[in-house]
Amino acid sequence: MGNVRGFLDFKKANNQKIAPSERVKNFKEFIKPLDKKEREIQAGRCMDCGVAFCHTGKMSEGKDIGCPLNNLIPEWNDLLYRSLWEEAFKRLELTNPFPEFTGRVCPAPCEDSCVCAINGESVSIKDNELALAENAFKEGFITPLKPQKYHGKKIAIIGSGPAGLACAYSLNLLGYKVSVYERSDKAGGLLMYGIPDMKLEKSVVQRRIALLEKSGVEFKLNQNINSKEKANKLLKDFDALILCTGASEPNTLNIKGKDLNGVKFAMDFLSENTKSLLKNSKPATTAKGKNVLVIGSGDTSVDCIAVALRQGAKSITRFERSPKKSELRSKDNPWPLKADIFTTDYGLEEAKAVYQKDVREYQKLTKEFVGKDKLEGVLASDLKRENGKNVEIKGSEKLYKADLVLLAMGFSGSEKAISVNFGVEFDTKNNIATTNYQSSHEKIFSCGDARTGQSLVVWAIKDGLKCALRVHKELSGE
Ligand code: SF4
Repeated sequence: MGNVRGFLDFKKANNQKIAPSERVKNFKEFIKPLDKKEREIQAGRCMDCGVAFCHTGKMSEGKDIGCPLNNLIPEWNDLLYRSLWEEAFKRLELTNPFPEFTGRVCPAPCEDSCVCAINGESVSIKDNELALAENAFKEGFITPLKPQKYHGKKIAIIGSGPAGLACAYSLNLLGYKVSVYERSDKAGGLLMYGIPDMKLEKSVVQRRIALLEKSGVEFKLNQNINSKEKANKLLKDFDALILCTGASEPNTLNIKGKDLNGVKFAMDFLSENTKSLLKNSKPATTAKGKNVLVIGSGDTSVDCIAVALRQGAKSITRFERSPKKSELRSKDNPWPLKADIFTTDYGLEEAKAVYQKDVREYQKLTKEFVGKDKLEGVLASDLKRENGKNVEIKGSEKLYKADLVLLAMGFSGSEKAISVNFGVEFDTKNNIATTNYQSSHEKIFSCGDARTGQSLVVWAIKDGLKCALRVHKELSGE
């Protein structure tokens, strides 16, 4: 596969990025792709390793090994190296219906599992994937995919995030009439209103929705299935229902001052910002001129920092409960697991450029939100590790000035407001309980974060594809 000496002769080259201090001036994507020849050289670094761990697609000890979608990475890298862009894209599309999304927002566990990464730099798999996807749109290799015929059965999908879209894509191809119900004014769920424009421009999401519509999928927008009557009507009208409502119930801090004006959930902040950009209006809450404190350490916290910077925050601080990670893999996090190491993601890189310092504060325990009518500060103390547990250091309390706190501490399970109307059961983690994708109601299935809990976009796509096959088996008996 590829150029057998490629990994020795060429260094890894990722896409270029606009400098952090420049790109914070707007909300546009900031990737500057390599030219096609350079990209082919990068694909040639795929080394004919024999056992390609990059497409394993398994979890071990809570960490990914390789691509969850089992993308045929060595195969499309080889085709790309040989300048066969269309053939490479078709090979990619076999396993990944939306490479333009994963090429932008996937954390690329494939690269951590690449054999080249054992003692060197991985192949630039994610950037190769994005190049193939964008080139395919540009050259017209991506066209609406329709089934040979529709056989008369109808399926309703509730929720149009990555799992719902993947499920709709697959079931439509299998000959089902698919209607996707979305409570927002635009389809895409998390892709549309959860991930900021800098990472995924909204025209990219709507380009895919338009393609799905041309393929035969129907989108019903502004449809909140918020009553038993509405749920029962869907149950009557369709042969099967699939709940893909995500895991949007946010974790919170039940401490003094949590209801103060100025304490906000991260996802509300992000979606309000995206909506304001689309409407060319002011967001309901802005970080402009404010001291912002972000609590949490995941991707959402990084997105909050990036948005707050672009809105003109006076200062930004991020609190994490955990200690700073090591820059090297620990003994219990060996290759080919996804590396659990210290990294500086895009928003943190930007904050460093703007404020001339790393805005992360480690091992912080948030104890109280302070203020009268509105937030004025946050009382926090330091933590230390003792016998594997976080222990508060007595006397370390300090007041941090803050006008806006963004809670980005993950999600506690599926939002029940819609699912309860269908009478399905939930598991102990607040997710929709399923057996092989089927809920406690025989006509209702579920996939994505609503079923598994908070996960990655790439896992949601995988779950949507698998659920589609399960529903097909149920309805067709095949
Ligand atoms: S979807 Fe993610 S894990 Fe899979 S090949 Fe693309 S970047 Fe890698």
